[in-house]
Amino acid sequence: MTTSLFAGERPDRPEEACAVFGVYAPGEDVARLACFGLQALQHRGQESAGIAVGDGDTILIHKDLGLVDQVFDEEELAHLKGDIAIGHTRYSTAGGGGWKESQPHVSAIDDELIALAHNGTLVDTAPQRAWLANEGVQLYGHTDSEVAARTIGVDIRRAGRIRSGIKLMMQQLHGAYAIVLASPTALYAFRDACGIRPLSLGRLPNERGWVVASETCGLDAVGAQFVRDVEPGEIVKVSSAGLESEQGIEPAKRAFCIFEYVYFARPDSVFDGEVVYHARRRMGRILACEAPVEADMVLGVPDSGVPCALGYAEKSGIPYGDGIVKNRYVGRTFIQPTQEMRQMGIRIKLNPLPSMIRGKRLVVIDDSIVRGNTSKKLVEMLRDAGAAEVHLRIVSPEVMWPCFYGIDTDTRDQLISANLSHDEVCRHIGCDSLAFISLDGLHEAIHSDHDGFCDACFSGVYPVAIPGQLRQKACLDAVSGDGPLP
Ligand code: SF4
Repeated sequence: MTTSLFAGERPDRPEEACAVFGVYAPGEDVARLACFGLQALQHRGQESAGIAVGDGDTILIHKDLGLVDQVFDEEELAHLKGDIAIGHTRYSTAGGGGWKESQPHVSAIDDELIALAHNGTLVDTAPQRAWLANEGVQLYGHTDSEVAARTIGVDIRRAGRIRSGIKLMMQQLHGAYAIVLASPTALYAFRDACGIRPLSLGRLPNERGWVVASETCGLDAVGAQFVRDVEPGEIVKVSSAGLESEQGIEPAKRAFCIFEYVYFARPDSVFDGEVVYHARRRMGRILACEAPVEADMVLGVPDSGVPCALGYAEKSGIPYGDGIVKNRYVGRTFIQPTQEMRQMGIRIKLNPLPSMIRGKRLVVIDDSIVRGNTSKKLVEMLRDAGAAEVHLRIVSPEVMWPCFYGIDTDTRDQLISANLSHDEVCRHIGCDSLAFISLDGLHEAIHSDHDGFCDACFSGVYPVAIPGQLRQKACLDAVSGDGPLP
């Protein structure tokens, strides 16, 4: 869902860290199922893809930089035979984006191999790195996922049980994580105590096996029926003994990332009983009440802005029109245009439809403004295509605070709304008017079974405490003192 106008440019959206997928299905082509699941989850990360398979004796793995269908072909999949597979697509937020950091991460603990794939970010791994060094454990990369895997490994070595290793990791490391782990004979899935990042559990028809995925669209892709979510702090294990569950750590106050509904997730995914598409449509309706404007046409910035725009049009009575076309086939791994090409205005990802736009007063609905660069170019592009007026309406509140839980906004100075007043942002972007949904309005739009959300990037109220060093680096203290932060 990256909506930079130019491929390869740092996007003007909070970018999701990753997707994870896991399947336990003896007798099935588990690598192919994982491949299908990852393709459905490709929007959550486009830098690398990988699948690890447990075949009863060992772990087999293939991973590389690129999109899922660039990394896997028939030959690769044919080599990955087993009963268990875990998969990962990556957007790097911690530790770099090279091959070494791509996942699943495989660790050897004496004779035992484990593979681990992680969505989220652990807030402060420095003390744990020191602890691991003290335990004589060497780290080979810079990712928090390796720190998690090595911590689990320490306890496997001591106690000989993977589950107690996972518990140790859950006790010692804090932050956001939805993790799938494969041993040669079992699949594990576990989630942080607040349930910040999503993880759903499903079952293949005719009791052929179990599946876990970051979003329910990953379950749908392999024909699995949604059963329930992996609960905050829960460890699920699937093996020849069936499905077992235990609490790895006491659950804390639930804090599911509210941005999943706004932008990250696919519209056909369901979290806590709420279909993302319907939540987005309601966001548009609420925004139409909160920020009306006289205009001739409502249009949505693809993809996530479109259902919101339909909701805005419904409520405002202003007709909806398609005015922006998105190229769906450009990932972040594609060749970056040169500066010269950028200046020429090579629009690779989004292009306007002048015949729809010319002479019209537009209400443009977008999901968020983080850095402001894409919104500015979008407005320029629409004016160049002949728009008479451009009124920007955003279905998230102003992003004022960095995210430390798996999104790539880790300092305040990158956030345009944290540094400029509302009027200055409007002038910078060059629109005729600008309005954001209220935080109450955003909450009201989501009809989920639970009301515990993380909305820290809007409110500054962080569900997992941010350590001092990280706060300093992120410029939190300079602005907020102790403010609303825990
Ligand atoms: S701060 Fe919270 S709501 Fe915002 S993107 Fe991060 S996890 Fe999601």
